[in-house]
Amino acid sequence: MVPAVRQIVHVDLDAFYASVEVLLDPSLRGKPVIVGGSPEGRGVVSSASYQARACGVRSAMPVAQALRLCPQAIRVSPSHGVYGKHSRAVMEVLEGYTPVVEQLSIDEAFLDLTGCEALWGPAPEVARQIQERVRDECGLPCSLGVATNKLVAKIACGQGKPQGLVIVPPGQEAAFLAPLAIETLWGVGEAMGRRLRELGVTTIGQLAERSEAELVRLFGEGGGRLHGAAQGLDDSPVHTERERRSISQEHTFGANVADRQTLQRRLLSMADHLAAGLRREGLVAQTVRLKLRYDDFETVTRQVTLDQPTDQADVLYGQALGLLDAHWNRQRLVRLIGLGASGLLREGGYQLELFDHSDQRNARLSHTLDEIRARFGRHAITRASLLRDQFTGPEPSDE
Ligand SMILES: [Mg+2]
Repeated sequence: MVPAVRQIVHVDLDAFYASVEVLLDPSLRGKPVIVGGSPEGRGVVSSASYQARACGVRSAMPVAQALRLCPQAIRVSPSHGVYGKHSRAVMEVLEGYTPVVEQLSIDEAFLDLTGCEALWGPAPEVARQIQERVRDECGLPCSLGVATNKLVAKIACGQGKPQGLVIVPPGQEAAFLAPLAIETLWGVGEAMGRRLRELGVTTIGQLAERSEAELVRLFGEGGGRLHGAAQGLDDSPVHTERERRSISQEHTFGANVADRQTLQRRLLSMADHLAAGLRREGLVAQTVRLKLRYDDFETVTRQVTLDQPTDQADVLYGQALGLLDAHWNRQRLVRLIGLGASGLLREGGYQLELFDHSDQRNARLSHTLDEIRARFGRHAITRASLLRDQFTGPEPSDE
C-alpha cells in the first residue's frame, strides 16, 4: 500500500564548482569567486560564489560581463577531473540513508525517506544531519528542502539557498507556494511567464485561483499540469531504477593489433555510436570506461568520472583516448577493445549552467547529425577522420 504522505528531500549543493574551488584553495573562502573560461576566450560563468552573485553575477553569463559587474572577483578556470569525485562523495552520504536516491545532476538529488522514520527519525531531522555531514565530511555547503513531493521539495530547497533547510509540512504545500513568483514553478518558461503576467497572474497563488479549464484553453495539455503544480500537487516518484545503467560497445579485431591508429579509429567510431545512443534515449553519461583485452586474454578495465555528464562523442572519445594512453601496455597486442558509458542520468537533469558556448554548438550539431542518420541511415554521415583513414591511409600520428 502506498502511504498517504510521502517524505521527500531535495538536496542541492550551493555554488558547487565554486565551492569545490574554495575547498581546493582555502584562500578563496569568503571571496567573490567565478569559475569559468577566460574572458578573452569568450568563456561563460559555470559557477559563482554567493559573494559574486551578490554583484549580479549569474551562471551562463559571459565571464567578461561578470568581471565588469564584479571587478574584484577572482576568476578560476574549471578544475577538470575533480568535480565528479566530490559529487560522488556527496551521493555516497545520501545513499547511506536510503537506496531511493534520484540524482538529477552532478550536484543535486532527491531522496524518498518515506517509511524511514523508525530507522533515522523524522525527515526534517535527517535533512539537518545530511547538511552537517556533507559540510563536515565532504567540505561542501548545501541546501535542502523537505516536503511531501518532489515539486515542493525542490522549490523549498531553492528558497533557502545558500545553506538553507526549508521544511514544508504536509497540507501546507499550496500555502507555501502561494506568495512565490510564477517563474519559480517547473515548466514556466519565459514565454509562458510573460503570457501569465499579461493576464495579471504574477504569483503561484494567483495562478492557483485560475480554473483548470482556463489554463488548458491557454496552454493546451501543459495547462493541466500547471494547474496541479500551482496547488502544490505532484505524484511523480523518486526514480532510482534508471532504465539503463550503462551502454557499451566492443570490438574484437580479426588480427591482434599493435598500433595506436587502429585502436584510436575504433574508439572514435564507438564513441560516435554510443553518443548517438545516449541522445536517442535522452540520457547523459557521467562515467567513461575503456576495456582492453590482450592477446593472452588478460582484460584491463579502466574508467574516469566526468565533471559534466555528456552525450557528446567528442567528449567520450577524448576521455577514451586519455585512458588508452594511460593504461595500454604498448608492448602487448590488443585483441579486443571496448568503450562504455555509465552513471547514466536523464538529460533533463543536465544543468544548463554547465554548458559553455562550444558545448551548445556541439549539441546542436550532434542533434542535426542524429536527424540525418535517422532519415537516411546510420552510414549517411561518417566523420571525416574515419573516411580519410579509410580512403587515404593512416593520418599522421599525434603522439
Ligand atoms: Mg547546485
